Amino acid sequence: MKTNRRNFIKGITGASAGMLLPTACISKSDGKEEAATGPYIPKKNRPVKSNHDVVVVGAGLSGLHAAMLLEEQGFDVQVIEGRQRLGGRIYTLNNVPGKPEAAGEFIGANYARMINTVHKLGLEMHNPDSGNSINRPWLYNIKGEYITAENWESHKLNPLEGEDRSLLPHRFLSAISHRDNPLQGKPLNAWLEPEYHQYDIPHDQYLRAKGVNEETIKLMNVVIHAGGMPNTSAMNELRRYHVMNFSNGKISFPDGTGWKMIKGGNSLLPEAMANSMKNEVQLGRTVVGFIEENGTVTVGCADGSEYKAKHVVCSIPITVLRNITFEPYISGISKEAIGNMDYGLSVQAHFIIKEPFWEKDGMEPNMWTDGPLERFAIRSKREEGDPYAGLAFINGPESLKFRLMTDEQVFDYVEQKLAEIRPSTKGVLKRLMIQSCERDIHGAGDWVYWQPGQVKKFGNHMRKNHGNIHFCGEHTAIMERGMEGAFESGERAALDIILNA
Ligand SMILES: Cc1cc2nc3c(=O)[nH]c(=O)nc-3n(C[C@H](O)[C@H](O)[C@H](O)COP(=O)(O)OP(=O)(O)OC[C@H]3O[C@@H](n4cnc5c(N)ncnc54)[C@H](O)[C@@H]3O)c2cc1C
Repeated sequence: MKTNRRNFIKGITGASAGMLLPTACISKSDGKEEAATGPYIPKKNRPVKSNHDVVVVGAGLSGLHAAMLLEEQGFDVQVIEGRQRLGGRIYTLNNVPGKPEAAGEFIGANYARMINTVHKLGLEMHNPDSGNSINRPWLYNIKGEYITAENWESHKLNPLEGEDRSLLPHRFLSAISHRDNPLQGKPLNAWLEPEYHQYDIPHDQYLRAKGVNEETIKLMNVVIHAGGMPNTSAMNELRRYHVMNFSNGKISFPDGTGWKMIKGGNSLLPEAMANSMKNEVQLGRTVVGFIEENGTVTVGCADGSEYKAKHVVCSIPITVLRNITFEPYISGISKEAIGNMDYGLSVQAHFIIKEPFWEKDGMEPNMWTDGPLERFAIRSKREEGDPYAGLAFINGPESLKFRLMTDEQVFDYVEQKLAEIRPSTKGVLKRLMIQSCERDIHGAGDWVYWQPGQVKKFGNHMRKNHGNIHFCGEHTAIMERGMEGAFESGERAALDIILNA
């Protein structure tokens, strides 16, 4: 299948106008296709052998976006996915009251590619009262002492000085890391430029040099979504807040809001994307190896299935790639990156709250702690008859230990730690589910993060093709992060094939 650069650019203007148009300009009526509705129902698995123009591995946002763009350009595309569900790190927990998002949650107003796809597929977005901690004050438990948001500023355990004392503990990391951010005012890809390699150092070292004290750095460890302050590159955090603040106040949805979610649950998006494809997405096809010979790539799966194509788009998270064989081998810096890059982890323990324990002890329901539990938040009821639901959310280095625990052990641990600091929770929690995107063989943690020295070493190698295998996924994005980063990376991989086919 051939296309030329002109046709492609013409096509992509309609297909992925997000790249070119400000978000607010894209109206729902721009969508030409009919809404793809209804749950995606996979057919029963049996090993298959098939040939295509392109095989896309992974039915998360990056893989599905690449697949849709390629199909729009006339390629015969087959998407295969290891799990028995679509979406990867988009996962609405439909069986938990309030249907919380277990992963990708907030769609920023600057998520142009993603918003365009949402409109195109006839889905709606809204700003639900997600009922989580966002709009409710935390009750802080620091060194075993309860502190309310109101008395934080004057409290003796507040380690900050001067005007900074009004910053609440969950805001330290973002407020202080972004202050004097060397990337401010620079393009979104500036973090890869050699002049900024001087910031590719441990984040605690960077902050210490700026006069931040040890106690503050310690509290920052509760929120850091990576491997802990010493093991995270300052550039990781500087880039993170640079991306977050890039469009702040400049781009908003037409109703003035800065973020939205998909009505009915974010999982409806990957389902609609898959439904829009000509070839049914094949679920339960765990890829175990790639062999490239005479310009054809054979993709081998755990169930014996084999898919052949001239090009492969591979959206498998980089940590999972360690378990997959490549023939010819991947060597050099790319191999080192596969062996060393990592994702920030988080684990969520979901409960039904049988009785509102905060009415018993008269304190705020949401807890933010510097102990091993980190955060416990209550979701407000969506419907009058709904029970209260709550979740413990632990991320960063504190979440590592849960890799070694069964779900029951995680529940035991969370309940015990919670009861120690909040006795009124004893006996009122009903166990629902443990969720972590990393808790199965196909999963990565939440977002990729860069360890000190890795931006310099691997920053420009993450996107390097291996023969006709084109890598995508949020970890390969240059400008954006999170869900829009996934879309950006899928677009890049698709472009690579379309423009060079
Ligand atoms: C708790 C949490 C909160 C988040 N909140 C936000 C947020 O508010 N806003 C935001 O923008 N982003 C957020 N993110 C990040 C966002 O969800 C991800 O960056 C994005 O969804 C990643 O998409 P992807 O396509 O790159 O990867 P994935 O979604 O991981 O897709 C990769 C796919 O490959 C499949 N796969 C893996 N191995 C194999 C194999 N061997 N064979 C076949 N298939 C395989 C996986 O099952 C998966 O479906 C959050 C993530 C988490 C976990």
